[in-house]
Amino acid sequence: MTIGPLSQYEETSFWAHSYGQYSPNAPLAGDRSVDVAIIGGGFTGLSTALEFKRDNPGATVAVLEAAVVGYGASGRNGGFNMKLFGLEPEITKLRWGRQRTIDAHRYALRAVRWVKDLIEQNQLDSDYRHTGMLRVSYSPSQLQRLEHTHHLMRDLGIDGDISFFTREQLRGEFRTDRYLGAIYERETGILNPCKHVRELKRLAVTAGVDVYEQSPVDLISRPAGKIRLQTRGGTLTAAKLVVATNAYTSALQGLPRLRSRQLPMWTFQVVTAPLSAAQWESIGWNNQQSFEDNRQLVHYFRPTVDGRITMGGGDITTPSGKGFDHDSEPRIWAHCEEHLKWIFPQLRDVPIQYRWGGPVSVNVDMTPEIGLLGDDRVIYSTGCIGHGVSLTHLNGRLIADLLGGRKTELSDFWIVNRKAVPWPPEPLSFIGRHVLHKGLQLWDYLEERKIGRDQRHG
Ligand SMILES: Cc1cc2nc3c(=O)[nH]c(=O)nc-3n(C[C@H](O)[C@H](O)[C@H](O)COP(=O)(O)OP(=O)(O)OC[C@H]3O[C@@H](n4cnc5c(N)ncnc54)[C@H](O)[C@@H]3O)c2cc1C
Repeated sequence: MTIGPLSQYEETSFWAHSYGQYSPNAPLAGDRSVDVAIIGGGFTGLSTALEFKRDNPGATVAVLEAAVVGYGASGRNGGFNMKLFGLEPEITKLRWGRQRTIDAHRYALRAVRWVKDLIEQNQLDSDYRHTGMLRVSYSPSQLQRLEHTHHLMRDLGIDGDISFFTREQLRGEFRTDRYLGAIYERETGILNPCKHVRELKRLAVTAGVDVYEQSPVDLISRPAGKIRLQTRGGTLTAAKLVVATNAYTSALQGLPRLRSRQLPMWTFQVVTAPLSAAQWESIGWNNQQSFEDNRQLVHYFRPTVDGRITMGGGDITTPSGKGFDHDSEPRIWAHCEEHLKWIFPQLRDVPIQYRWGGPVSVNVDMTPEIGLLGDDRVIYSTGCIGHGVSLTHLNGRLIADLLGGRKTELSDFWIVNRKAVPWPPEPLSFIGRHVLHKGLQLWDYLEERKIGRDQRHG
């Protein structure tokens, strides 16, 4: 697997940098056999390992991580523990129908509570705050869509924690004129993803899971009913395998059917210097909620525990080259900074201190998928796009049920072994991604062209 340099990740990502000194576990050395092997030390891999080991204390479980735990999206995301499943409820309903949209919402709500409970019950040092989230609109057409979303959620009966905020209510909370209206979702929290994923590793290791870091799996083979994972330092033979490599899945060698299930796309984030008390006072935001906007290429914003604002999004990249060394995008970082200061001109002198990016896993239909490759001995999970913090944790519980052959409400969830459309081969796939990307940019431009935003924001 080709990844960007570890030192770049540790220096550029605010979360990784502020974590400080981290001592990875030793790589796999020599040959070992286990009951369950998991490739990928992110939320999916570690949650699966933890849950399966707790169910089966006598079983041997090993996680192989190419770099360090949290190197992937899990250690460098926005930290929104949120309920969004796929893109929008409208799109989920259009594609999957009414009942599946309701089921997906229930799953996502359970996932958010699962993460909150996990942190509270195990006293994880994840800087967790359950402060809720606003989805804001800047333009009348965005507001109209937001109202439509709200009506749909009411109609589906999935609006239990939702309330609508008017422009006047928002003005009481935030010192900006940019917000025309918002949906407030009470059941959302924020965490520090790097601290959290490493706390998850601690829990898994304490439960008896073996976590090997700096152990990229170079080849997967299936000799005589077994699964063999080859790394530089040794070989792991397992009865069952969980592929928890998310956006990196297409690069795995030895499971050709997984190559086209999903593709990586990159999203980028920045963080300000800590704001002074006067600067916080100047923008309001006393309740420290997170917020997103109601664009197609969404921006997301949240405060950190040390008084900064971190934000990201606004655009994505869909690189055509192979490899994963695409974590840097000055154009989008500049866009993020401009956008933050467009909302809060009071912060015009606040510098940006860290800039980074990372890949998310995107299925053709933007819907998460948990699949079995042939039989129940190889299970994979992909497609949480930029909304996987909560889902990946509950997916871990679900995969543990599948591994244990347990039929449960989770194992019956409709994303399991669903009929997913693969990405077409190149260059069709590149053209498809390009057209989709340009379409989303155009949509945002058309909805925002009259609100004083220039082309640079499109
Ligand atoms: C910048 C950014 C912001 C985001 N913000 C949010 C947010 O605020 N809220 C939200 O819900 N979601 C967000 N997401 C998405 C979310 O982070 C992901 O959906 C989730 O973390 C995926 O977890 P995972 O464990 O499945 O994958 P990952 O965390 O990507 O883990 C996969 C791991 O597999 C390892 N690996 C890959 N190949 C191999 C190999 N051959 N051998 C061994 N190991 C291998 C990688 O090194 C990696 O550590 C964001 C993503 C990004 C990039």
